[in-house]
Amino acid sequence: MPNAAKLKFWGVRGSTPTVERDTWRYGGNTSCLELTVPGGGRFILDCGSGLRMLGKHLRTTAEGLLESPRINSIDAQVLVTHYHWDHIQGMPFFQPFFQPQNRFNFFSFRSKQLGRDSLRQVLEAQLASPYFPVDVGKMTAERHFHEINGGDTWDAKGAHITAAWLNHPQGCLGYRLDTAAGSMVYATDNEPGVPEFDNNLLRLAEGADVLIYDSQYSPEQLATTRKGWGHSSWLEGVKIARQAKVKNLILFHHDPESSSRTVDGFLYAARQEFPETWAAMEGMCLTFVERGLEVSLPEARMGRRRWVRLAATVSGQSEDGTAFEERAAVRDLSLLGAFLSLSRRPMLQSELRVVIQTAGDAESSAPLSLRATVVRCEPGRDANEHGVGVVFIEEAEPETPEG
Ligand SMILES: [Zn+2]
Ligand SMILES: [Zn+2]
Repeated sequence: MPNAAKLKFWGVRGSTPTVERDTWRYGGNTSCLELTVPGGGRFILDCGSGLRMLGKHLRTTAEGLLESPRINSIDAQVLVTHYHWDHIQGMPFFQPFFQPQNRFNFFSFRSKQLGRDSLRQVLEAQLASPYFPVDVGKMTAERHFHEINGGDTWDAKGAHITAAWLNHPQGCLGYRLDTAAGSMVYATDNEPGVPEFDNNLLRLAEGADVLIYDSQYSPEQLATTRKGWGHSSWLEGVKIARQAKVKNLILFHHDPESSSRTVDGFLYAARQEFPETWAAMEGMCLTFVERGLEVSLPEARMGRRRWVRLAATVSGQSEDGTAFEERAAVRDLSLLGAFLSLSRRPMLQSELRVVIQTAGDAESSAPLSLRATVVRCEPGRDANEHGVGVVFIEEAEPETPEG
C-alpha cells in the first residue's frame, strides 16, 4: 500500500474543453482530479472531460499490472462540486462505470432545481435518449449516491473530508481532504466578494498543503467584464493563500480563451507575490512527501525526440532566484517539423525519411535521422523546386540512445 498521497490532474480547463493548438501545453480537458491516499483510497474530484482519460489510464493499469480480478476492480469516492457541464460531462465516457466489478460512491448536494437525488439525475439524464446512444442500464458498476451539504464533514477511505459552500451561480461546493500524508483543498468555481463565502473558503483552506483555486480570469477582467460570472483570478488566489497560510497554490480552471502563454503570464505574476505557486496542467502530478510537495509535469514535448550530442550555452534563473549562464551538453532534441526544398514533389500524407547532418566532426556528433509525414507541397523559389512541409512522427520501433 502506498504511504504517500498523490494528486493527478486529468482536466484543468474551465467552462468547455479546448482543442486549439495554443492551449495544448496546459491541456484542454475540463475539470477532473484524482487523489490517491495512504492505504490506497482513491478519490475523483469532478467529472469533466478529463474523466475519460482517467478511465483509460485505470484500464491500462488494471490490464497491465494487476491480474487478479479481485484487485482488478476499482473502488472510488467521486466528489462533484456542482452540476455545470464542465464538471459532469465526462461521465458517459468513463469506461469503469460500465464494468460490474467496480464500485463508486458519489457525493454532491441537493440542487434547488432538481430536488432529491440530484447527482443521480444528472448522471442518468446524460445517458437519456436522444442525448446518448447507450442506455443507462449498461452502466453496470455499483453506484451509491450520497447527498451532502456545505459544512458537512465525514471520513472515507483514509481521508477526512470537509465540504463548504462557495459563491457560484446555482451553488458549488469546495472540498478539503485531510490525509495522513497531507491536506488539499479543491476550491474551483468561486467568485470572491461575498463575506459569507469568503469566510467559508478561508476556513476551508486554513493551513492546507495545497490549495487548488479558480484562476480563470485576469484581475482586470474580474473587476470589469467578467464581474458576476462566478469565477476568480490568480490575485485572489494569492490573497487567500497568504491569509489562510497555505503552503502551495495551484492556479486552476483556465479560461477556454486563455492560451498557454496567457496562463504562463498569470503564473509568473502570481509567483512574484507567492513563490510557491503552480499552474495546473493536464498530467501534472503532486506527491505529498515529508519535506513538502514534489511536483512533476507530463511529457510536454510533442514531436519526435532525437538523441544528439551537441554543445550549447544555457542562461536562465536558478530555483533560488539567481541568474546563471553555463555551457551544457544537449542530450536530445524534440522536433516538430521542417520546411524542405526538393526537386521532386512527394505526395501529401506520404512518409519521408529526412537525415540531417549536424555540424562538427563525425566523432562528436551524429546525424539526425527522422521519419516524417508530408503536410504541405507548394511551388518553390525556382521553377524546378518544391517547398515541402513535413511533420516529424514517431519511429515505428522505440530507439535506444546513440551515445
Ligand atoms: Zn467550471
Ligand atoms: Zn461552474
